[in-house]
Amino acid sequence: MRGQFRRLRLIYLITGLVFLSILGTSIVQIMAAYKAEKASLYETTLALNYESAQKMSVTMNTLFKSMKHSLSVMSEHIAKQGNADASLQKDLDLFLKSTNYFNSVFFVNKDSTVQNVSPASLGATTPKLTSEASLRALELRQPTISPPFTTSTNKLIIFMTHPVYSSLGEYIGYVGGTIYLQENNILNSIFGSFTASQSYAYVVDGEGTLLYHPDKTRLGENVLSNPIVKKLTDGYKGHEEVVNTQGASFLAGYADSSENEWGIVVQTPIEVVTAESEIMIKNVVLISLPLFLVILLVTLWLGKMLAAPFSSLAETAQKLVSGSRVSDLPKAVHWNYEAYHLNETILLTMDTLQQRVDNFSHEAQTDPLTGLSNRRTMDACLADWTGQNRLFSVIALDIDHFKAVNDTYGHQTGDEVLKYLAAVVLSVTRKEDYCCRFGGEEFVVLLPDLSIEHAYKTAETLRKKLENQSSPTGKPITVSLGIASYPHHASLDQPVIQCADQALYIAKRNGRNQTVAYKAKAV
Ligand code: GH3
Ligand code: MG
Ligand code: MG
Repeated sequence: MRGQFRRLRLIYLITGLVFLSILGTSIVQIMAAYKAEKASLYETTLALNYESAQKMSVTMNTLFKSMKHSLSVMSEHIAKQGNADASLQKDLDLFLKSTNYFNSVFFVNKDSTVQNVSPASLGATTPKLTSEASLRALELRQPTISPPFTTSTNKLIIFMTHPVYSSLGEYIGYVGGTIYLQENNILNSIFGSFTASQSYAYVVDGEGTLLYHPDKTRLGENVLSNPIVKKLTDGYKGHEEVVNTQGASFLAGYADSSENEWGIVVQTPIEVVTAESEIMIKNVVLISLPLFLVILLVTLWLGKMLAAPFSSLAETAQKLVSGSRVSDLPKAVHWNYEAYHLNETILLTMDTLQQRVDNFSHEAQTDPLTGLSNRRTMDACLADWTGQNRLFSVIALDIDHFKAVNDTYGHQTGDEVLKYLAAVVLSVTRKEDYCCRFGGEEFVVLLPDLSIEHAYKTAETLRKKLENQSSPTGKPITVSLGIASYPHHASLDQPVIQCADQALYIAKRNGRNQTVAYKAKAV
C-alpha cells in the first residue's frame, strides 16, 4: 500500500493552491457583487414602479375629473337645449367622438327608458335600462360611478352618470357614459402604453376588482386577497415585494386615486430583476476569465521555476541512492532565497557524503601498506572476467626468504621492501593490469587479454629488474613467480589462481628466483 501512494508534485500543489484561492476569492466577490447588484436593482425597480404608480394616479385623477366634468357639461347643455330627440342625438354623437372618454353615451329619461344612445346602433337593443347602476343613478339623482358589471349584452362595463335637471329645476333623467372594459377604451389607451421591461400596470376599483389589466381575461376578477390590493383599498400607497393571487412574485409600486376609490399598481416580475443581475454576473465572469487564465498560466510557470531545484535535487538524490556516482553535482542557482539556500546546503551535504563514500570504498578496495588492490578487489575482478569468459593471464609471485629480511633488517624495513616491490610491479605492468597484494609477501598480477607467453615475458622482466637493483635493504631481493592463463588452464575444480600458485610452488621448489608457467602435467 505504501508503495502505491503517489506523492503530490510541488508544482501541482502551488498551482492548485493559487487556483483554489483565486477561485474562492472570485466566487466570494462575484456573489457579493451579485447580491449588491440585485439589492440595488430591487430598490431601483421598487422606486421606479412607485413613481410610475403615483404619476398614473395623478393622470387617472385628472382623467376622472375631466370625464365627470364632460358629463356635467353635457347635462347642462341638455338642460339648456331641452331633450328634443333629433338635436340630442347629434349632440351625443359629437360628445362621444370629441371626448373619446366613453365607449358609449346615453340620455336616459327619469322613467329609465333610453331616449338617445350614441353610437346609435345600440339604441334598439336596450329600450329600458334595468341595471342596478342605472336604477341607482335615477334614485340618487346625483353623479354616480358603478362597479364593473356585465350587461344583458354580455359586456363587462363601468357606468358613469350625471343627473339632468330642466331649466325649471325639474329632474328629467341623466346622461350616462360607459367604459367597455374588455374593448379598446380610455383606460387601455392611457395605461396600456406603459411598457417598461416586462413591467405593467393594472387598475382596481375600491372593492378590489380588476378594471384594467393587460390580460383581458382577468378583467372583472376580484383580487382583494392580493396584500397590496388590500392595502390600496384601505387607502395606503407605497412599494414592496408581493406574491400575487396567482402565486407569482413581483416588485410593485402602488398608489390610489383621490377622485374615486380606484388604485393603480405598477409591477415588475422578480425573474426580470434576477435575470438582469445574472446577466451582469455572466459579463463579469466573461471579462475576468482571460485574466484568470493568465494568472493560472503565470502561476504554473512560477510553480515550475520554484519546483525546478527540488526536482533536480530529487533526481540527483535518486541517482546517489541507486548507487551511481554523480560526478558533476548541479550548482545551486535560484532566484528564490529559501530555494537557493536549501539547494546549496543539500548539494554541499551530498558532495561531502559522496566524497566520504568514495574514501570508504577506496579503503575497502586497497591494501593500506602498498596502495595496491586487495584480495577482495582481485576476487571481484576474477569473478567478473571469468563470468565474461575473457582471456587473461595471472602472475603469482612471492618474495624469496622474506622472513630473513625481517629477521635481519627488522619488520619496518620489511614493510619498506613490500612497498618497494609494489612500486616495481606497477612499473613493469600495463595500466589495465590489476596488481594486488594477495597476503603477506605474496602478490598477484591479473593481465587481461594477454597470452601466457606475454605474461611470461612480463614476469621475467620483473624478476630480472628486482634481481638487478637494490631494495630498501641495500641489496636486491629476488622473487619466485608462477603463471597461468584463463580459460586455457582453468577447470571446474581448479581455479586459474590456484594453477598460478602451484606453478609458484614449483618455482620455489626448483630453487627460487625463477618463473614457472603452469602445465597440467606439472601437478
Ligand atoms: P620462502 O622463500 O619459502 O617464501 O621463504 P619466506 O621466508 O619468504 O617464507 P615464509 O612464509 O616462511 O615467511 C614469510 C614471512 O613474511 C613471515 C612474515 O613475518 C613475513 N610477513 C608477512 N607479512 C608481512 C608484513 O606485512 N610485513 C613484514 N615486515 N613482514 C611480513
Ligand atoms: Mg616468501
Ligand atoms: Mg610466502
